[in-house]
Amino acid sequence: MEIQEAVRRYLQTSGFGQMALKTAMFDMDGVLFDSMRNHARCWHETMTHFGFDFPEWEAFLHEGRTGGGTINIVSQRERGHDATAEEIEEMYRYKSELFDQCPEAEPMPGAYSLLKKVKGSGITPMVVTGSGQRILLKRLQKNFPYIFRQELMVTAFDVKKGKPDPEPYLMGLEKGGCFLSNSTEGTLKANESIVIENAPLGVEAGVAAGVFTIAVNTGPLPDETLYEAGANLLFPSMQALCDQWEELLGALQKTTTM
Ligand code: MG
Repeated sequence: MEIQEAVRRYLQTSGFGQMALKTAMFDMDGVLFDSMRNHARCWHETMTHFGFDFPEWEAFLHEGRTGGGTINIVSQRERGHDATAEEIEEMYRYKSELFDQCPEAEPMPGAYSLLKKVKGSGITPMVVTGSGQRILLKRLQKNFPYIFRQELMVTAFDVKKGKPDPEPYLMGLEKGGCFLSNSTEGTLKANESIVIENAPLGVEAGVAAGVFTIAVNTGPLPDETLYEAGANLLFPSMQALCDQWEELLGALQKTTTM
């Protein structure tokens, strides 16, 4: 879809006259780091070890869900009932141990160039992730120096519900100062930010928060999965989004419904 048309459609649906961009909220796994392949392989090995059928690609479908949530969906499908708390704990521990042995995930190609462009445009890049892995969070500073501010990050330590609930992105709007300053209720202004997501549940969360949501399809799922989740726009990679940033920014700044 043409970029300007995607922005126009968003503005029409959301009721905003125009965008007033202040921040850009980036998901981490599968967007800033090429870490989803490790997660997918570990989930596949864990499920197989505990007797469940779970192809690697399915992990991309559940990305963003809590470990327990994913385990229960598979347990229901394969056994007709939820897993016990002990089973969930044991499986999640197994998966985490495998993950710790995985090779370090590389930064996603194009991510750092894009972040520098975003910041150079006067827009504050933020991270909004369901991950609580201190190693990866620390590596954000190492791989993307001078881009993110710790106090603006939303991680697993901040949120109760996680994606696909809009909570992480609503909190991101709040932390980023995207609200009506003279409003006592602190009304959030979703048109002051954009979301960049790779996962269907993450896209759902961004859309549910009312934010213009850009999907980057860095995994094996078909594009339709991300469009069906509500993505306003889709790019095949972070590099492609980086290459088209100027065009996108122009459309975000100039398009109005007036
Ligand atoms: Mg992700």
